[in-house]
Amino acid sequence: MRLLIMGPPGAGKGTQAVHIAQRLSVPHISTGDLFRANLTEGTSLGLEAKKYMDAGEYVPDSVTNGMVRDRLKQADAAQGFLLDGYPRTVAQVAELDGMLAGNNIDKVIVLTADADEVVTRLLHRAEEQGRADDTEEVIRRRLEVYAEQTAPLIDLYAARGILVEVGGMGSVEQVTNNIFAELHV
Ligand code: ADP
Repeated sequence: MRLLIMGPPGAGKGTQAVHIAQRLSVPHISTGDLFRANLTEGTSLGLEAKKYMDAGEYVPDSVTNGMVRDRLKQADAAQGFLLDGYPRTVAQVAELDGMLAGNNIDKVIVLTADADEVVTRLLHRAEEQGRADDTEEVIRRRLEVYAEQTAPLIDLYAARGILVEVGGMGSVEQVTNNIFAELHV
């Protein structure tokens, strides 16, 4: 199974992705996690990405596309994966199509959430985890960037007939169950 998960910041993508990937025994590939791991290791890619992440902006494609391409080439992704946080722009959709070379995405899960609720959730996460991009100002910018650049992907994947939309507002377990009910796996 080749899956994508998308949704606004704070919708619970990362949390759900871990559960889904575990149940389906596919690797969970999160671009946000890859950037943060690079930053922890102090790589030049990590330092470059940090400038954008801290401002709530998307990291340039010149950095992001190559990182995803390398990750998808690893052996564990050959039979399937759950990609979280990529693609985030129409241009990245075309890049991903190229990387997959015909082994197309089976389903795209979209987690929906209302804006006030996600801001509350992210501010709460800021208190618990101290992520640099979880300040109110940066959260608002991330939501704007999502609406402008990533939300259009919903229609794009709907037109391909592979979109699965699930409300992200219940308990973690409820949302996971709803996702599996919709995925039919
Ligand atoms: P969230 O979805 O909650 O904003 P992520 O951990 O998925 O958090 O991503 C954190 C940041 O990493 C994003 O705000 C962005 O700066 C960067 N990022 C992640 N994926 C991409 C991508 N596909 N293209 C560009 N930037 C990305």
